[in-house]
Amino acid sequence: MTTPNERGLVLAPWSMEQVQALANWQASPQVHPFTCRNRGNGQHPVEGHDHGILRPTPKGWVCPHCDYTQDWAHDFMFTDVLLQNKFHV
Ligand SMILES: [Zn+2]
Repeated sequence: MTTPNERGLVLAPWSMEQVQALANWQASPQVHPFTCRNRGNGQHPVEGHDHGILRPTPKGWVCPHCDYTQDWAHDFMFTDVLLQNKFHV
């Protein structure tokens, strides 16, 4: 499924374009990124502007520091974050 369900969630698998949109979201300092549920265990160093930031893949989110995965994202995370920010200024 690559379209939002009734709760506004988009389940993996995602297209490469969707993965790129999620990567842009995670890299933006103006939004809160998805982070690992286990990031408080001391094994999740700061990367960019937070620690334990999840990485999007076509199969879903993965944590580079543990085996945590997540298979959904909010529909609004697939919009162009940079374009959104222009309207927020
Ligand atoms: Zn983790």
